Amino acid sequence: MAEEIQFTFKCPQCGCATFEEILVNVTQSTAFERVNCDEDITEPDYQNTSTDGGEIARYQCQRCGFILKDEQGQTIANTQGLRQWLDKNGQAGVTFSG
Ligand SMILES: [Zn+2]
Repeated sequence: MAEEIQFTFKCPQCGCATFEEILVNVTQSTAFERVNCDEDITEPDYQNTSTDGGEIARYQCQRCGFILKDEQGQTIANTQGLRQWLDKNGQAGVTFSG
């Protein structure tokens, strides 16, 4: 069994538990096999979506848009920075898997 540390997010501003990674310069592709048609195509039957490339622009709270920043006040735009931010501000828990 492997031990993993799992962090949960809590927005310092609004308490929301969900945050989002904002990517820029992404190529997104979506697979589908069928579409619904009236006069126009209404709803492709999307199977899955994948993204390719892209750079992290920022991490932010999904509800209020609070942007994660490091101690120097710089916007966090990489996973290392995110990890450090969570070390200080996240809530860590240990889970077991495998
Ligand atoms: Zn928030």
